[in-house]
Amino acid sequence: MLLNTGLVVVQLVVGFGFGSLALIGDALHNVGDVLGLALGWAAERLALRPASRRFTYGYRRSTQFASLANGALVLAAGGVVVVEGVQRLGRPAAIQPEPVAWAALAGLVINLASARLFGHGHQHDLNRRAAVLHLLTDAAVSAAVLLSALLIQLTGWSRLDALAAIGVGLAVLWSGWGLLLESGALLLDAVPRGVDLAAIEAALLSLEGVERVHHLHVWSMSTSAVALTAHLQRDPARLADRELLRQARHRLQQLGVGHTTLQLETDEEDPGGEQC
Ligand SMILES: [Zn+2]
Ligand SMILES: [Zn+2]
Repeated sequence: MLLNTGLVVVQLVVGFGFGSLALIGDALHNVGDVLGLALGWAAERLALRPASRRFTYGYRRSTQFASLANGALVLAAGGVVVVEGVQRLGRPAAIQPEPVAWAALAGLVINLASARLFGHGHQHDLNRRAAVLHLLTDAAVSAAVLLSALLIQLTGWSRLDALAAIGVGLAVLWSGWGLLLESGALLLDAVPRGVDLAAIEAALLSLEGVERVHHLHVWSMSTSAVALTAHLQRDPARLADRELLRQARHRLQQLGVGHTTLQLETDEEDPGGEQC
């Protein structure tokens, strides 16, 4: 993270000092990454605080707010770079390609080294793999800036910098959009990835005496804890409630749901309960 902050400072200084918008775009993206790490770290600290009488779920959701804010920031930065790049196509500014190439090379090396460091021995961890993929994308962006600086050096065609900046800006927009979609889905209580709602419904319906399942809701309380609420209409003569609940909890546990709240009822108690 210290290395990343240093990289951002160098890229910004060189980018502004020698007129390369593409490099500034790359730097802005890295600012987003550093900010994302810092926000994520702060949110994780907050999430560790115990639940209270007012915040009965605790503060675990703060990690989702952090990635939403990060996504919005990255999106804004990408938009600025694209707009500026389009304007620059019309009035290309003189840039000095050599220092720009060195700064881009530094970005390439640092991102590749981080990817190797981070991914080593963690090929099976999904979060780690996503992080490594991100670092490799960043390395590719730096490589594009490096290539454009070298081509400008060779050909003197300075519009290439604006074109590279637009490409970088689009890549930044794309990553911000993905972040926004993912955290937005979590905040809207979407069923978490890897949880099969149809299998859960089928498992509940397969329990002895259960006739209908409704008000079935599955959401993620944090990145690791999955919660469920449901109403089960059952025939109390078929299976004792205590045994039914025990089996239901066991089946749900196997399907990755650890935090369940079930309401047992008969047809008369909730005749129209189908709305949500
Ligand atoms: Zn990045
Ligand atoms: Zn009901």
